[in-house]
Amino acid sequence: MKILLLGKNGQVGWELQRALAPLGELLALDRSQADLSEPESLRAVITNFKPNWIVNAAAYTAVDKAEDEKDLAYTVNADSVGVLAEEALKLNAWLIHYSTDYVYDGDKQGEYVETDDVNPLSVYGKSKLAGENNIREVGCKYLIFRTSWVFAAKGNNFAKSMMNLAKDRNELKIVADQFGAPTSAELIADVTSFCIQRLIGMNEQLSNDRVGTYHLVSDGKATWHSYAQYVISKATSLGERYSVSTQSILPITTDEYPLPAVRPKNSKLSTDKLKESFGISLPHWSMYVDRMLEEII
Ligand code: NDP
Repeated sequence: MKILLLGKNGQVGWELQRALAPLGELLALDRSQADLSEPESLRAVITNFKPNWIVNAAAYTAVDKAEDEKDLAYTVNADSVGVLAEEALKLNAWLIHYSTDYVYDGDKQGEYVETDDVNPLSVYGKSKLAGENNIREVGCKYLIFRTSWVFAAKGNNFAKSMMNLAKDRNELKIVADQFGAPTSAELIADVTSFCIQRLIGMNEQLSNDRVGTYHLVSDGKATWHSYAQYVISKATSLGERYSVSTQSILPITTDEYPLPAVRPKNSKLSTDKLKESFGISLPHWSMYVDRMLEEII
């Protein structure tokens, strides 16, 4: 079995290198070897290797910058993803791709399910939705995993930003009216590997029935504010010293912290479909935050 992994040095890509390696012959590429800003160049990469699985962890993820770099965001997140789907179809390979809670507008009360209407508020969210739509239009075998608030020991993320800021400031003001689930890249990679193994063990009819879009997020919910408090409290208990205490992490509203890209207020995604289709459970986000902090401190 041959697996092509794109974006090997991102948060999710790094963990995928570990999780996919035991499954077969893994070719893991970075931006210099497979550049999604040059969609047509990807065809030769794929036809030369002839993978059975293409796992795409590469993406334009600079959410705010995307408001000014619309063309590049669409080329990477939509056009290239369409090319991956076309080449997967030619080889009868599976394409595994990651998308985002930012395809929703966040106005729903309660958890989103995969069949809910999408209405992205940002260029990033729109470009990711366009990528999803390109896959569905091409009609290769695919899994699209919509995830949220990704963190990992390697790479940049909210938890690490909070730890850095807490060393320099006496007070942090963090948004407390957006809800979501911090999700570990380690979990995303492990679930991806697990789903591949499940699909391999199924007959064609059953595996084809699993083609589709799934929410893949940790259990539990947080606000950015409660997430920041958790990170600083746990890191302090592990011996880190900060000028900020959990009491001096203050809640503010989204309106008090304007950013170029509008975020959904409610990013809580139901994972029932993924759990039922693949027979897995998804642990609480705090377990993985604890693991990351113990790893990096
Ligand atoms: P990262 O930003 O950590 O990694 C993205 C990777 O894509 C990097 O390795 C980067 O390369 C690579 N990349 C960017 N542009 C190109 C390009 N033109 N050609 C090739 N590679 C490129 O992202 P995550 O691992 O966090 O995200 C994985 C997936 O999850 C993405 O699809 C993302 O949209 C989605 N997602 C992420 C969320 C988050 O909070 N981070 C939330 C919801 C969904 P380089 O290392 O050279 O910069």
